[in-house]
Amino acid sequence: MILKNFNELKTYLDTPKDIVIIGHKNPDGDAVGATLGLKHYLDKKGHETQVLLPNEFPEFLRWIPGTETVYRFDRQNKQSVRSLKKSEIIFLLDFNALHRVGDDMQNTLEKYEHDFALIDHHQQPDDFTYMYSDTSMSSTCQMVYNFIEMMGDTAIIDADIATCLYTGIMTDTGSFRFRSTTSATHRIIADLIDKGAKNDKIHSNVYDANTYSRLLLLGQALTNLQIYPEYKTAFITLSQKEKDKFNYQKGDTEGIVNYALSLQGIIFAAIFIEDKEQGIIKISFRSKGTFSVNKFARNYFNGGGHDNAAGGRSNVSLGETIEKFKSLLPNYQKELMNSYEE
Ligand code: 5GP
Ligand code: MN
Repeated sequence: MILKNFNELKTYLDTPKDIVIIGHKNPDGDAVGATLGLKHYLDKKGHETQVLLPNEFPEFLRWIPGTETVYRFDRQNKQSVRSLKKSEIIFLLDFNALHRVGDDMQNTLEKYEHDFALIDHHQQPDDFTYMYSDTSMSSTCQMVYNFIEMMGDTAIIDADIATCLYTGIMTDTGSFRFRSTTSATHRIIADLIDKGAKNDKIHSNVYDANTYSRLLLLGQALTNLQIYPEYKTAFITLSQKEKDKFNYQKGDTEGIVNYALSLQGIIFAAIFIEDKEQGIIKISFRSKGTFSVNKFARNYFNGGGHDNAAGGRSNVSLGETIEKFKSLLPNYQKELMNSYEE
């Protein structure tokens, strides 16, 4: 755990400040929940805040309180740049290095003249003036709760803050099932429910938001599933053509990789998704036990993340990417076999 200059930050926030809060590119439930949860809290403390996200977030997160106030850097660029110019400090939430916001926004942030405050649970964070980094945490939303607690302010957590933070903890823990879920996570969740988070509604809003075409896309993904029991590995592919056929919308492929991991005896799962617009193959990796997909993604697929959940990309074709992936598996046979005790 790294806690850097927290007391200085606490003192700095004693008087009202103009604050920008940023999440990573392709924001997920944790990024949206954490940025908006922190925003509602800081607003309550009398600060002026603006949440900026690099690009679109999935439709199934649109109900989260405060999403209508968010500026998208790619679409509302002028407003975004204006709020950055007048801000006095930037909070960076749910990512560990500036390149995670995408090239355009990164270039702008690199010219920023004031301080950054990072709250994040990813490995190997870059250095910023103020830092709260803890890779053992389930989610950045859990850390925002801890941050509010360290500020001595849990009493002012209201239903909006509680709803935002509950959502990110829920999505980043796979509904409280991943290894990172601890008794502390559950205690925080209990407190968030007491403070007004409607747990049944939140689950339903996020997980029961399928469109028919999304289910058909899932069907296609499952049809494409390939299993390599000798490496305890399974992976899924989705081509651009298949995405188009089933009217792919942002967020539709979220969580599909977990179906590969749900197979008996499988401890390493991947999904390869062709993105013709960006000219890349976007990859998600998941694992169980000690096999680190963070290292695997870093070493071979320009990515990173956590030990059991990471992502990356490839600039060659879908077919070539899969060949590369398959050719790597024999090197890890022993590690994969010993990663997880059933
Ligand atoms: P997902 O597979 O759900 O997109 O991402 C899983 C985890 O890996 C997330 O914590 C995310 O931040 C991280 N991640 C996903 N894609 C990338 C990437 O391209 N680079 C890095 N460094 N991390 C990624
Ligand atoms: Mn997260």
